[in-house]
Amino acid sequence: MTIAQRLQQIHSRIEAAALQAGRSPAEVRLVAVSKTRPAADVSAAFRAGQVIFGENYVQELNTKVPLVQEPVEWHFIGHLQSNKVRQIAGLVTLIHSVDRLSLAEEISRQWGRLGKVCDVLVQVNIAGEATKSGTTEEGALELVRAISLLPSLTVKGLMTMPPFFDDPEAARPYFRELKRLAGMITGEGIPGVGMKELSMGMSGDFEAAIQEGATLVRVGTAIFGERQYN
Ligand SMILES: *Cc1c(COP(=O)(O)O)cnc(C)c1O
Repeated sequence: MTIAQRLQQIHSRIEAAALQAGRSPAEVRLVAVSKTRPAADVSAAFRAGQVIFGENYVQELNTKVPLVQEPVEWHFIGHLQSNKVRQIAGLVTLIHSVDRLSLAEEISRQWGRLGKVCDVLVQVNIAGEATKSGTTEEGALELVRAISLLPSLTVKGLMTMPPFFDDPEAARPYFRELKRLAGMITGEGIPGVGMKELSMGMSGDFEAAIQEGATLVRVGTAIFGERQYN
């Protein structure tokens, strides 16, 4: 199957999942995760209508951006080291993976230098897995509050990556919990903070995530095929 055909399938599945949950499919945006994929795959996906691409690694993103001529939109979705923020400043329109204040401060500093504001999501490690990034669920509110005071950064919502399960139903409670957490934070009425975006769901479980309220699903393998490495 071609990338275009796979994209078409994913869109049908997104639509079905949204309608099943009584949501408008237009509320859900697809982030095509292009890590490890050549620029030609990004261009092919763009020609098939895909606009947003997610990358995990700073160096890979920097190499790929100049090779893609089409006006795509880049999101950063991977673990981000503060000393690399400068290299992606102004290049990406949303960072999904802000999990600590020091990182947020550096993002604000670097975007500020450009006279721009960076949209971010706060990544929450709902399951508390030692191997995954993300603030604790208990620490999320405090982190959002602290970030909200930074001048060149805006919190738009939350992101999570549940533990890996073969059964997508097993991931559902984590998606539900992220939605609950976003609602709790919204209730705090922190000035300048939005909780509209919920980035959750990947190739194996995006339908469950959409049923639980995802507004951004991050799908790689189901669009581009299996990766050779991670
Ligand atoms: C790789 C990756 C994805 C995409 O995973 P697939 O299973 O290939 O869809 C989504 N989110 C993050 C943070 C990733 O690192």
